[in-house]
Amino acid sequence: MGHKKMCLDCRKTFNREFDPGSGHDYKCPDCGKSMILMPHRFRPPKRTDDKKWETVKLLVENGFKYQHIYNYKEIDGKWTSESVEYPENPKDAKEFIQKYKNQSFNI
Ligand SMILES: [Zn+2]
Repeated sequence: MGHKKMCLDCRKTFNREFDPGSGHDYKCPDCGKSMILMPHRFRPPKRTDDKKWETVKLLVENGFKYQHIYNYKEIDGKWTSESVEYPENPKDAKEFIQKYKNQSFNI
């Protein structure tokens, strides 16, 4: 298991194994900016898919790096949690950010 490195500007991801010697600052080979570590299961949109990249950017900038997000609800007096799907468009992303902000990495 490793992480994906993502450059939001170039809309690229790189599948590289985690290298413990180089710290957490990975530079994009194309533009030289620091890349963002993403979980392996993150599936990057097509390079030309503006809406989906806008969605990814919005989520990442608000502390949602495609970690698991849970929806907690009470059914018959018992609390259960279910994993929540990530939104696919900016409008849903804004609602998602509001709704799950207590689970973001920003707090
Ligand atoms: Zn780049």
